[in-house]
Amino acid sequence: MNNIICEVVHSIRNKEKINVNGYLMVKDKNRQNLYYWCCENRDTLQCNGRATTRLIEDQHHLQSVANHNHAAEASRVNVVKSINVLKERAQQTNDQPVQIIQTIAADNSQEIYPYFPSRDALRQSVKRIRRVNFPAEPQSLESLIIPENMQKTLDGSDFLIKDSTIGHDRILLFTTTSGLTVRYGTDETFSLLIRHIPALAFLPPDEIPTVFDELKTNMPVEANEIMEWFEHYYIRVTDNIEYAFPRTQNSVEAWHRRWDVLVGGAHVGVFKIIMEIQKEQNRVQLEAESILRGLPRNLTKRKDRERESRIQMLYNDRENRPVMDFLRGIAHNISF
Ligand SMILES: [Zn+2]
Repeated sequence: MNNIICEVVHSIRNKEKINVNGYLMVKDKNRQNLYYWCCENRDTLQCNGRATTRLIEDQHHLQSVANHNHAAEASRVNVVKSINVLKERAQQTNDQPVQIIQTIAADNSQEIYPYFPSRDALRQSVKRIRRVNFPAEPQSLESLIIPENMQKTLDGSDFLIKDSTIGHDRILLFTTTSGLTVRYGTDETFSLLIRHIPALAFLPPDEIPTVFDELKTNMPVEANEIMEWFEHYYIRVTDNIEYAFPRTQNSVEAWHRRWDVLVGGAHVGVFKIIMEIQKEQNRVQLEAESILRGLPRNLTKRKDRERESRIQMLYNDRENRPVMDFLRGIAHNISF
């Protein structure tokens, strides 16, 4: 038993398992740092195989074992690990099932491959995973309730920062607030300019692309990164829920092309789009570490309400102002 460290085989939904000499063991209980494990085949094979480990600095050091009534399957551990990879990729990427299966097949040696579930079974499980947490699309704006898991990024940060009903529209604004406050909070002029971006969400969809371009020319270069960031992350949900993105032909076209590729098909539901935005955010976050982390400020409920009504007033008065003035007015009432 001399200092054998047991590998942990993680799984998204299932209990933690460890690999003890080629047997997969499921956690039974622990007393402080002493862990008791039993064979994963305890019920199916009535196996009494057991093990205890001591957890030291996140590593399971093997203490004792009790014998199994069956042979170890070396391939089993690798199969389980690969299926975990498959589940992860199914949740966090847009890869086609066939691509995902190809990747895990390539990561494993030929000897193990026969122990895999059939390709068809793997394809089914990718589809099943993608259906989970996927509520039925709402039939009307009123019945559109954004589930908790869609209000967060994949790693659990706040993501839906604004959900308001204005006239016949719902506006959902997704962004991570991290960084913006810290980095630009001190420069009021710059900060106000930045807030023109989310203010765009208050324009009719067909005006957004043109105004976005105009805004872009007024922005200092330092804002490029953020402009791009926002280009991806807001949805305006109109009466016709399927019509979730402005459609015009100009420089924002690249954005649409990208979304066509990501979401596929013109008539996709709002939940599907939100999930794509979550994945996109996850991807961009990995690339955009230059944006610092910070904590969003919490507004009191009363302040929130006052702000909402000021925005509503501006919104109703839209016709009487030049578009940039309108945006600035809204921007004054947005904070991160
Ligand atoms: Zn066993």
